[in-house]
Amino acid sequence: MKIGFVSLGCPKNLVDTEVMMGTLAARGHVLTANPEEADAIVVNTCSFIDPAKQESVDTILEMAEYKRRGRARRLIVAGCLVERFRGDIRAAIPEVDAVIGTNEIERIAEACEHGLEPQPEAAPYLYHDLTPRLLATPRHYAYIKINEGCDHPCSFCVIPQFRGRFRSRRPESVLAEARALFAQGVREINLIGQDTTAYGDDLGMKDGLATLLEHLARIDTPHRKWIRFLYCYPNRISTRLLDVLAAHDPLVKYIDMPLQHASARILKRMKRGSSGEIFLRLLERIRRHVPGVAIRTSMIVGFPGETEQDFEELCQFVEAAQFDRLGVFGYSDEETSASYHLDGKVDRRTIYNRRRRLMAIQRKISRRRNRELVGREMEVLVEGPSPESELLWQARLASQAPDIDGVCYISDPGPRAPQQGEFRRMRIRRAHDYDLVGDLVDNPPPVAAAPAHSPFRIIHSTAGRPHAHQ
Ligand code: SF4
Repeated sequence: MKIGFVSLGCPKNLVDTEVMMGTLAARGHVLTANPEEADAIVVNTCSFIDPAKQESVDTILEMAEYKRRGRARRLIVAGCLVERFRGDIRAAIPEVDAVIGTNEIERIAEACEHGLEPQPEAAPYLYHDLTPRLLATPRHYAYIKINEGCDHPCSFCVIPQFRGRFRSRRPESVLAEARALFAQGVREINLIGQDTTAYGDDLGMKDGLATLLEHLARIDTPHRKWIRFLYCYPNRISTRLLDVLAAHDPLVKYIDMPLQHASARILKRMKRGSSGEIFLRLLERIRRHVPGVAIRTSMIVGFPGETEQDFEELCQFVEAAQFDRLGVFGYSDEETSASYHLDGKVDRRTIYNRRRRLMAIQRKISRRRNRELVGREMEVLVEGPSPESELLWQARLASQAPDIDGVCYISDPGPRAPQQGEFRRMRIRRAHDYDLVGDLVDNPPPVAAAPAHSPFRIIHSTAGRPHAHQ
């Protein structure tokens, strides 16, 4: 069969899509990025907040059109929407032939070929290094999911309800997968999970993430490499983790740590605890231990009970913290979340205005920080032609994570045309709010093109769009 994929939501969902594609290719099926020519279409959905749920339903309806007027004979819905609304999806959208949950992704071939035989509830699933997987990311970077599920009780979050209890992959499996990816020519590996800082807790490891990073950094590769980890939980940032991050050159000096708010009163209602003061001391400790580190966070505004005073406190905190990257989400009142039952709901207009105000504060900070880089010569990873225009190539600094942060546009490629996936030196010429512009100033020997791995083009992916939050 020819099978097309749409992958919605976060990079963790994209890895599930890649495992499903690998499983189908291993059975001889062919992947296509053109829904017109697909015999079967799979929509891997997201559903942690309203906008994500709506996007998933709209996309399923859009793909159902190809069944009505196209070649497609089967429409499969996978992912987090299935975990929340398993029974309703087929009732509401009869064009859907099968639904598979996040623990059933290895049954994708069955679902595409002839439908799923009823089976008892699937055991918690987590792929490993021998699981067939086809990368959908560009050839120079990839994600590795090191753990799944979450045991934190954040009152606004429903992710544990459909991703299950926390579980880690064995370190040998992660290391084997990383070696295989580097051997395929991947230059940057991004470690992901709901909470990467809890890695190994369930395997009896202390500071498991720090140990894993040390081993990953020591993997011998013929080329330069970057290793980044995303989704840290603030009270799990240990001194050992920071020391390991500072000590190993391949480990990108980048901390992604959603804090969600700064008012102690709101953080308590979120069942996250802590306060803005504690977070400022944590930021100071991180910056002291890892000079030049870039810090990304995300905040929720409009949480039930958030007063104007709480919001002012959050704004002052963001001014004081001077983050490199900040994502702001409007609170989404999920009916199965604990916070759904809280009083003091904030109206949509106020949520909208508070989000705009906090983003405006961060835009100024980001612009000032970018301006400080003008004139400096820095290492970049060349990404290739920019989605903005084929004529423009782009690259990323180590402080710019794929898909969610700004990029560097290459104004002058220098003496030799850049190659996708090579590390080059860039002199920053201009700064914008989130992006930079610069010239490549070095002339290293061309790198051997990455071997076989070429990204499998899928119909559509939103893994990048910043609506994934921890
Ligand atoms: S917000 Fe993140 S840490 Fe909290 S419960 Fe959800 S997935 Fe877990």
